[in-house]
Amino acid sequence: MSLDRRTFLTAAAGATGAVLAGCATPAATTGKPALPFFIGSPSQMLLPKGRAPRVVVCGGGWGGLTTAKYLRQLAPSAEVILLERNPVFFSCPISNKWLVDMVDTSFITHDYLRVSERHGYRFIQSEVLEVDRAAQRVVTSLGSLDYDYLVLAPGIRYNYEAWFGNDRTVADATRARFPAAYVSNAEHFALKKALHGFKGGDWVMTLPPPPQRCPPSPYERACMVAWYFKHNNIKGKVTILDHKDGVRPIGPGFRAAFNELYKDYITYVPNAHVQEIDPFKKTIKTDAGDMKFDHAVLMAPHQAGDLAWKAGAIGLNSQGKPTGWAEVDPLMLHLKDDPRVYVIGDAVGFVSPQFAFYPKSAHVANKHGHIVAGYIAERVAGRTPKTALPDNLCYMMVNGDPREAISVQFDYKVNDKGVIEQTQIDINQRSADLVKENFRWAGLKFDDMFS
Ligand SMILES: Cc1cc2nc3c(=O)[nH]c(=O)nc-3n(C[C@H](O)[C@H](O)[C@H](O)COP(=O)(O)OP(=O)(O)OC[C@H]3O[C@@H](n4cnc5c(N)ncnc54)[C@H](O)[C@@H]3O)c2cc1C
Repeated sequence: MSLDRRTFLTAAAGATGAVLAGCATPAATTGKPALPFFIGSPSQMLLPKGRAPRVVVCGGGWGGLTTAKYLRQLAPSAEVILLERNPVFFSCPISNKWLVDMVDTSFITHDYLRVSERHGYRFIQSEVLEVDRAAQRVVTSLGSLDYDYLVLAPGIRYNYEAWFGNDRTVADATRARFPAAYVSNAEHFALKKALHGFKGGDWVMTLPPPPQRCPPSPYERACMVAWYFKHNNIKGKVTILDHKDGVRPIGPGFRAAFNELYKDYITYVPNAHVQEIDPFKKTIKTDAGDMKFDHAVLMAPHQAGDLAWKAGAIGLNSQGKPTGWAEVDPLMLHLKDDPRVYVIGDAVGFVSPQFAFYPKSAHVANKHGHIVAGYIAERVAGRTPKTALPDNLCYMMVNGDPREAISVQFDYKVNDKGVIEQTQIDINQRSADLVKENFRWAGLKFDDMFS
């Protein structure tokens, strides 16, 4: 079944109602009307804390969902609560293929409530507003919750201030008209609508500076958009304005696709640092030249999600300025100054002098979820956790006909100085087998979080 936007929103609204009713557990057992604590307020206590150790997981994306599921299995005595603002999970991985109708919406969306019931943790759809680490409390839009352990998995936010300073009007207009669609929300639907309504002309993509969410995926998106133009005889041209000085990772594989498959469709511009954007006149100035565009995917620089900032988790650089990312113990993933608070997934900051940051990928966030669930379970059992490291695996589709992909893999180990080392293997030769592996990977990961 293919869900359109209207159906998706209806499904989402239904799920919201179910989630809210589902929170009021007494109704299910007594048959009385559900206690409406979902109309609560941030100033009230949402759920009193009992004697069981409580783990509150903030953010129900790839990292948070995995943590919640595996904590219940590894630490059955713990109470696990997952807080997430969205009613329905929408996957960014595979979404570039969804943009060009290679997969249905139903493949990349999942229901939170049914999954939480299956795995025995409590899902509460709410906005996390504050984290009071001194009081070991999070404040949500529905009330506050005390915790013994806190897991922050907020993903990323866009740093439009880097482009527009305090000018919210221009920042909001840019986000509304030319969304990046790098955070799971309605932006993906807006982008898909823009692509399917595109009649031809200049389609521009600005790529953010590293560290960024899923570095190869903007190139995959450019290939999918170019393929869509070619396949549908649309006279469109994709210009990639890359902040970096070259395509990375899997550079040769992407460059081969640009040159061999999309010579008339893709122009790649390195070192295109954004200087000015006017979303009203549809113009952009960069160090590598200026452009007018008909549509654009304007990706402002990335930072750790708001929650990491609210929790005071962001590190400072040598000039005392925020690094933009959470400062964690590289091996144990808790905050350096607060061992009860873990940060996982994209929000994690510097971990190694060799490669600086883990790739900000769903694969790594999922692995972090497993690792941190294990760490907390050991601590709940009164034991000292042993270090575990993630790996990373990413497939990027470059051709729609025939369907072909390339891929990159990263492995990690701790050297004898206690430093994490990375090895990287790029597979630049595009092939149909890698497409099969990509969908197998996605199916296995969805099973890991949802089944
Ligand atoms: C187009 C695209 C393609 C990609 N392709 C791949 C791929 O092929 N393979 C791969 O491994 N990775 C891929 N990624 C990257 C992947 O999506 C991210 O790395 C992954 O989602 C990170 O997981 P996370 O748990 O850190 O954050 P997210 O998955 O973003 O989860 C964060 C969650 O926290 C919630 N949240 C944040 N703040 C609050 C708050 N205050 N209150 C309540 N809830 C909150 C958000 O709603 C969100 O659900 C891709 C990304 C994009 C954009």
